[in-house]
Parts: sequence; C-alpha cells; structure tokens
Amino acid sequence: MKKITLLGSTGSIGTQTLEVLDYLEDYEVLALAAGRNITLLSKQIEKYHPKRVSVQREEDVKFIKSKFPQIEVLCGIEGLMELCSDTQNDIILVATSGKIGLKPTLCAIENKINIALANKETLVMAGDIVMKKARENNVKILPVDSEHSAILQCLGDKNNQAYKLIITASGGPFLYKTREEMGHTNALEALKHPRWHMGRKITIDSATLMNKGLEVIEAHHLFNMDYSDIKVVIHPQSLVHSFVEFKDGSILAQVGFPSMHIPIQYALTYPTRQKGIKTDGFSLYGQQMSFEKPDFNKFPCLKMAYEAGKTGGSAPVVLNAANEVAVNNFLEGKISFLDIEKTVYKALCDHTPMSNPTLEEIFEIDIETRKKYGK
Ligand code: MN
Repeated sequence: MKKITLLGSTGSIGTQTLEVLDYLEDYEVLALAAGRNITLLSKQIEKYHPKRVSVQREEDVKFIKSKFPQIEVLCGIEGLMELCSDTQNDIILVATSGKIGLKPTLCAIENKINIALANKETLVMAGDIVMKKARENNVKILPVDSEHSAILQCLGDKNNQAYKLIITASGGPFLYKTREEMGHTNALEALKHPRWHMGRKITIDSATLMNKGLEVIEAHHLFNMDYSDIKVVIHPQSLVHSFVEFKDGSILAQVGFPSMHIPIQYALTYPTRQKGIKTDGFSLYGQQMSFEKPDFNKFPCLKMAYEAGKTGGSAPVVLNAANEVAVNNFLEGKISFLDIEKTVYKALCDHTPMSNPTLEEIFEIDIETRKKYGK
C-alpha cells in the first residue's frame, strides 16, 4: 500500500483527489488536513479512516475528537508540519489554498517525502528555495495543475530535453470581450468560467489571465526553463493541456477531457499509469481545436507576471500578494475588474525587488504588500 497525506482535503482539488483514490487500489489515506469545513471532513474520516487529521481552528479539535476518539487530531500550522514530518508517507498532496502550504511543503521535502503540488503560491513565492531543497533531498515535486502535468507527461524520458514549453490557456470568460466591457463586469460574470469549475480566486485569475502568468512562473521553476522559452497559447476548447517543443521541431501535446482528475491521478501514480476514474471518459469525435496568440495589451496581468518572473527574487511575491488582495477586493465589490491589474501594477512599481530573499523575508514582503493594497 502507498501511503498518502492530503492537505486541503475539503477543497476543490482535495475532494477530487479522494474521488481519484476511490478508483485506485493500493492507496491508503494516512492523514487528512482541512480548514473549516468540519461537516465534510467528518464524512471523509468515516469513509477513508485516516490515522490522523489536522484542522485549522482549535475549537474544531474537540468536536472531531469526541466524534472519532480513535484518531489523533492536530491543529493549525503546527498540525500541518507534524503531518508532513511523518516519514511513513509515500507522497503528500498539497492542495491547501494560499501561503499556508509553503512551510509544510518544505518540511515534507526535508523529510524526503515526494510532493504532489496543487498549490500555486508555493512555487510563485519561493520557487528558488523549494526547488533547491527538493534537489538537495532528491525529492520529486509532481505538478497537479493540468498544464504542468501535461508538460511532465510530454517530457517523458529525461533525455528528451525540452526546447520550448507551450502552455495552453482557455482565455477565460472575457476572451472575446472588449476592455470596456471588461471594465463594467461584476463578480458574477467574471465567475462564469466557460470550461473549468474551480474555486473563486482561481476563476477570477483565469478571467484576468493572471492564472496563466502564475503558471508560467511555476513552469520556470518546475522545469528549469528560461522565461523566453515558455510561451502561452490561447486554446478555448481546453482539450490540449500544454505542449512541449523539442530541438528537432517536433511538438508533443497532452490531450484529454478538461478535468482535474487526470492530472491528480498522474501525480499520484507517476511515473506509471493506471486505470482510473476517467478511463474511457473522452472521445475525439466531433471535437474542434483552435489556437491563438494571447493579447498582452488586453490582459496586462499576463505580461506583468512574465516581467515579475524575469526580475525574480521578491518580485513574484509582490505580484502574487497584490493580485490576491485585489481579487478579494473585487469579489467583495470594492473595486472594479480592471482595478485588479492596476493594483498589481502599482504594487510592482512601488516595490524595490530584493534578490534571493530568505523565507522570512518572503513572508514579510507578502504581509506588507497585503496590508498596503488590501481594502
Ligand atoms: Mn492550470
């Protein structure tokens, strides 16, 4: 049996991971960590029988303990660190939202446990630190994001050196809208993503294309590629999840139904493939595919992400923090859709980038940026 710990079990990726596990044999859930959705966590405990769980709030510990006296209940960031120190784990899937996953991920790496990574902030904020530590400890960082999973699948053999990475983007709900129309949009419209069902923050990031920008930064770290060799292509049908171009001009694509189940499963079963939840789930008959160049003027968030990535150091930390508070402000109706990009632009202009920040400096800059640009 392969032992797995799932951080963020009640979120979108977390619940889909458990669905994937329902179809796989030889996997045992060692531990679950959740935020505040204690009702769902309780159901998950009943079904998957973890030995330990961790919750966000102290007051939820007692409730879980009284309901499930046989399991150990931990709490907060210490709880996540404790779960990530358990060397019985074969793999830890990190699907917590925000920066909370960063320290536990580093802890798991130090304990030489492989990581399936669904959390964007980890590499955007601290990609240099995380990847260096992973190399030193000979730990694999397996991407759960569909685009990075596609790249990993296309790369196949290590000798197959990538020449360029081509990341696909659906283009989001505003692909064919004008800037003026985008300016008048509200949260409800921006949350209507044409292809993917995801959390609220990432859906808004898909509408601004910031999500794709963050993915470019992640790809730079995961696959050790220069930003000039990472391209983005708009592909509204979301059937090709990304491409890798090789030196000889050959391009490989990974194709499939737009569903997170496949990339989740691949991260868990890597480097093998198994029959699973999406086996026989997709037919190419009748499918159309088109590809377009992204419009950097219409979607400046994508451009700013490239620039922040190239600057490196603390710049992506500021990009990420300013974007997150701006998206929250927009969702709460406090600013307009186009104010999101303005906030990020201002934050980047105001910031003097620091090269090679420590983890503590990264957290400081993150908090400062949120304070300054949040409302
Ligand atoms: Mn993605």
